[in-house]
Amino acid sequence: MTETPYFITVEEARDITQQTLPSTSTETLSLGDAAGRVLAEDLTSRVDDPPFDNSSMDGFACRLDSQATYPLTLSIVGTQAASGENDTSPLLAGQAVRIMTGAPMPPGADSILPIERCDVVDDTQVRLLEPPKPHFVRRQGENLRSGTVALSKGAVLTPARLGLCATMGYPEVNVVRRLKIAIVSTGDELKSPGEPLRHGEIYESNSYGLAGLVEWAGHEPVRFASVSDSLNSLRIALNEAASTCDVILTSGGVSMGEFDYVRRLMEDEGDIHFWRMKIRPGSPPLFGLWNTTPLFGLPGNPVSSHVVFRMLVAPYLRSALGADGPREWTVRARLCDRVKSTKDCLTLRRVTLTSTDEGMMAHQPKHQGSGNLDSLATAHGLTLLQPGESGEVGEWIEVLVL
Ligand code: AMP
Ligand code: MG
Repeated sequence: MTETPYFITVEEARDITQQTLPSTSTETLSLGDAAGRVLAEDLTSRVDDPPFDNSSMDGFACRLDSQATYPLTLSIVGTQAASGENDTSPLLAGQAVRIMTGAPMPPGADSILPIERCDVVDDTQVRLLEPPKPHFVRRQGENLRSGTVALSKGAVLTPARLGLCATMGYPEVNVVRRLKIAIVSTGDELKSPGEPLRHGEIYESNSYGLAGLVEWAGHEPVRFASVSDSLNSLRIALNEAASTCDVILTSGGVSMGEFDYVRRLMEDEGDIHFWRMKIRPGSPPLFGLWNTTPLFGLPGNPVSSHVVFRMLVAPYLRSALGADGPREWTVRARLCDRVKSTKDCLTLRRVTLTSTDEGMMAHQPKHQGSGNLDSLATAHGLTLLQPGESGEVGEWIEVLVL
């Protein structure tokens, strides 16, 4: 039997988790229901965008006469509204058509002068103060040609991309089904917010934070009632989670403590693929299978569970769906406070960011306990301090934007 990988780098941990991805399926959704979803196929435009030459300005359409001098008076021979009723015969030299933004170019016209640069004399005459401009004509297909793939399989349907689907003529789209992610927090000390607290008890917060992260990642969280520190109740909860969900996230119970039952149960009755990762905070996680369902054993400390989700679970979920998002952004920032680094771990401290003329500045205003959710809630980013990097004031480092 090979030994379970232990205390490995984040990259090694990612590689291991990605060998055990959940299976996915697809569904067809109407475009109005598809925000944030992941395309299951390439989308080819069904039309030219724009579908016809049209005006990008309210003004007058006419023919550009390179010999003319300005101001130049033209006779108004019609009106072209955006709805496109085309009631004009081909435009002649000396004639102009009143035109609205988006309206098709009248036949014979090649240029537009915006209304602000025109003097309308009366219903029949307009004085152009300067030459009309061909660049105010939006050409058929200049944005996108019919038959072009504009969105690829795996694209997350951001608001702009949803609009583009409609522009391309799709009333519905084929998307990857969201995964159901079970969230099981463990610990005898946990009480739901609102309940009275006895000495030694705290409010359970991880399931809420993790559910938010699962939604941010584009999936469906299923929050379980928190489980007491007993092998039997944990086993029951995990069986239920494995039979109803695609992936299980647990929180707590994966360290070396006597009551760290997630680790013990996974050791005895599950299948652990790795345990512990070189990351601070958040070194205790494990990954493996419960029955046949992938399970991430996340640390109990609230900052740690969040950080491990961002570094390990989020990339896993993106890979599972082949999704190109949600995008993770990093920026280079200069440390304005000293940040405690570690010898062998990737260190993620919570920093605020300010943009200055000298670049992005990172401050660490809050105490960095892994139980201090306030330090995370007020942070803009997490330092990606590599093992051995000093973390001294003045150093330029990579920061993951939250
Ligand atoms: P554990 O990993 O179970 O030893 O927990 C580490 C720390 O995180 C302890 O202080 C726990 O009380 C705390 N903790 C564990 N689970 C949660 C949770 N769901 N919400 C808030 N704090 C928790
Ligand atoms: Mg515990």
